[in-house]
Amino acid sequence: MEFDIIIIGAGPAGITLASHLSKKLNVALIEKGTEKYSSKINTNDHGNCNDYGNYPYKNYSSSFSSISSIGGNSMVWSGWSIPLQKDEVKNWPINYSELKEYYLKAEKFLDFKNFENLKKKNNKIYKDFLNNNWEVNSWQFIKKKNFNHFISKLDTNVKIFSETEFVKFRINEKKINEIIVKDNKKKEFSLIGKIIVLAQGALQSTKTLLLTEKVHGIKMGNENGHLGKFYMEHPHLHLGYFYDKKKILKKRFTKKNFELTGLYLKKPYKNDLLNGCLTFNNESLLLNPDTLRLQYILRLKKIPKNIFKDYSLIKFFYNLMIGFFNLIKEKILDKKFIYARFEQSPNINSRMELDDNNKIKLNWKISKSDIVSFCKITSMAKNYVKEKISNQVFIDKTIYDKKNWNKNFENKILGIGHHMGTTMMSKNSHFGVVDENLKLHYKDNIFVCSSSVFPSGGVGHPTFTICSLAIRLADHLNNNLKKI
Ligand SMILES: Cc1cc2nc3c(=O)[nH]c(=O)nc-3n(C[C@H](O)[C@H](O)[C@H](O)COP(=O)(O)OP(=O)(O)OC[C@H]3O[C@@H](n4cnc5c(N)ncnc54)[C@H](O)[C@@H]3O)c2cc1C
Repeated sequence: MEFDIIIIGAGPAGITLASHLSKKLNVALIEKGTEKYSSKINTNDHGNCNDYGNYPYKNYSSSFSSISSIGGNSMVWSGWSIPLQKDEVKNWPINYSELKEYYLKAEKFLDFKNFENLKKKNNKIYKDFLNNNWEVNSWQFIKKKNFNHFISKLDTNVKIFSETEFVKFRINEKKINEIIVKDNKKKEFSLIGKIIVLAQGALQSTKTLLLTEKVHGIKMGNENGHLGKFYMEHPHLHLGYFYDKKKILKKRFTKKNFELTGLYLKKPYKNDLLNGCLTFNNESLLLNPDTLRLQYILRLKKIPKNIFKDYSLIKFFYNLMIGFFNLIKEKILDKKFIYARFEQSPNINSRMELDDNNKIKLNWKISKSDIVSFCKITSMAKNYVKEKISNQVFIDKTIYDKKNWNKNFENKILGIGHHMGTTMMSKNSHFGVVDENLKLHYKDNIFVCSSSVFPSGGVGHPTFTICSLAIRLADHLNNNLKKI
């Protein structure tokens, strides 16, 4: 079978791309999973996390953040959406004005209000909560969380191959000629595409390229070996808590009508600061790995394999009970938690590789400069709460212990499947793996559509930007297919 474009992966990236390609193009959308979560397909055995990435449970970032289904990880995601700010993408090879154009298109596609107007409106409403260091910003939450509902709206020019796994490329130095896939009966067949787009999620897309290099000995990354390197996440951390006895927050900074307002740093990237943002939570649930386990199971409506591996059910139910009890206590005491999301700088030692069995080996590192930024942001958060909300603020002091930071936080820091940086986008092949149009620098007809192309991660949740880049890629392919 021959197609103009073959998209591998029907998560948010692949589905958004397929929805925006011209109806004149003959498109194949290949997806390993089905509409519902299948334990047979999702073995959660993608690989191991060596450093960070094992919280709330072992191999969370490598294996539990790689759901195979139509809709991909949108089956389990929380739906927080926000564009990246101008300063967060200043090292990207795309102009912010152009990216903004695609944010507007993604807003329309995902049925969001205009983010800029929402921010302006909320900065007026929350004017008493602004100071020199913090301004307000707002997330929107997608109404229909799982992207699988877009599938029924796809035109007939898109042929969907579900329960079909991409296996390998037939490739020469410059081009992919054919891809080999296998169906649910393990029968292999080949598909020919003028253009191949990897939309397998950041880790799996990077794995495909690393594996092709390993098996075929053909360079897929760049001359500096950057493929798989510069892995970034958004480390999530509870900084501490405070008592809002005077009820200053009232119902502010809470989620309503699919919107949530929080605080963003006003002047990131000054004095060794990366970006950071804060929300105030009512409960300590996010500190409790077992409520996170339960949330994951409820979202899937199934118990995934390995989630209770080496873990006692008694401990699970006991911790849930404690969590519930704490929740009630905290409500009575007006106790709120300060929840931070941090940006990491690109770091060549933070990387994914393949082990001897070709499974993912995730070496997610947090660098000294990241920790310096986390400490400064924590102090700014504490001062903010003291100035605007409550004197009774208690910060986890171990955050400031730079020497023992990695030891203290390896099993505490949460990353939520925001995998970025391993096939970075750059104008010049020296610095990245794909160009500004998401095409591999070293190949003529392979594109990557995922957060692995982000050259920096900011603190904004990635999926809204992934969708915007997918629409931009669709425009590029619609206009240039003949020239590529
Ligand atoms: C618990 C959790 C909460 C999250 N919350 C948020 C949030 O609030 N906001 C936010 O922005 N992001 C969030 N994320 C991240 C978000 O889910 C991802 O950014 C998003 O799903 C990425 O979309 P994608 O299409 O690039 O990849 P994926 O969603 O991973 O989809 C890739 C698809 O490709 C398929 N595939 C892979 N390999 C093959 C193969 N060989 N053959 C065929 N098909 C293949 C997979 O089966 C999968 O369906 C969260 C993630 C998790 C795990």
